[in-house]
Amino acid sequence: MKTMKFYLLAGIFAATLITCNNSNAKNNESNNSKNTETMKFEKVALPYATDALEPVISKTTIELHYGKHHQAYVDNLNKLVVGTEFEDADLETIVKNSDGAIFNNAGQHLNHNLYFTSFKADGGGEPQGGLAEAINSQFGSFDKFKEEFNAAGTSVFGSGWVWLAKDDSGKLSIEKESNAGNPVTKGLTPILGFDVWEHSYYLDYQNRRADHLKEIWKIIDWETVSNRY
Ligand code: MN
Repeated sequence: MKTMKFYLLAGIFAATLITCNNSNAKNNESNNSKNTETMKFEKVALPYATDALEPVISKTTIELHYGKHHQAYVDNLNKLVVGTEFEDADLETIVKNSDGAIFNNAGQHLNHNLYFTSFKADGGGEPQGGLAEAINSQFGSFDKFKEEFNAAGTSVFGSGWVWLAKDDSGKLSIEKESNAGNPVTKGLTPILGFDVWEHSYYLDYQNRRADHLKEIWKIIDWETVSNRY
């Protein structure tokens, strides 16, 4: 009897492992934020090695920021939506319609998916195509835009984000958001967001947020970011 129980448990364990592996593979494949079978949100895959952004962002910061902070938002969100109207909703719908703890964790999940996919090793340079034209016509030049963007990021009081966003007509704006804020709640499309929570820069720059914001332009993946416009 004991032997039978053992085999039964071992079988269940093996079946669980296979199921988990399958769902992970599907998530990685589609690069989406939610597995349709288990209805679980998952972080976007990191498109570079954890040390690829050094010295602008250290390996340690990426490991903590992506591995711990982003993971915690996702884990919290997966627990919080159970039994609510958001149980089967997509991430953007949740961010647009929720409040309180669900909004905070959903917003941060969306924000970090966008943030971590905006960089690459040896990035930098300038935006491309329609985004470059829109920046030049609205801000005067790329350098003037960067200046204005950094000033907005530096002046966010406490934790939050600075976003470049566009409206339905393609008009750009710089949006300061506190905490988990994302421009989608204003009907805008986020193009580029810099995280100004201290967890994003404190290990590498201590209190010097402005210095961090000056350096981060060196790792932007403008091809990916320009495609969001
Ligand atoms: Mn963050």
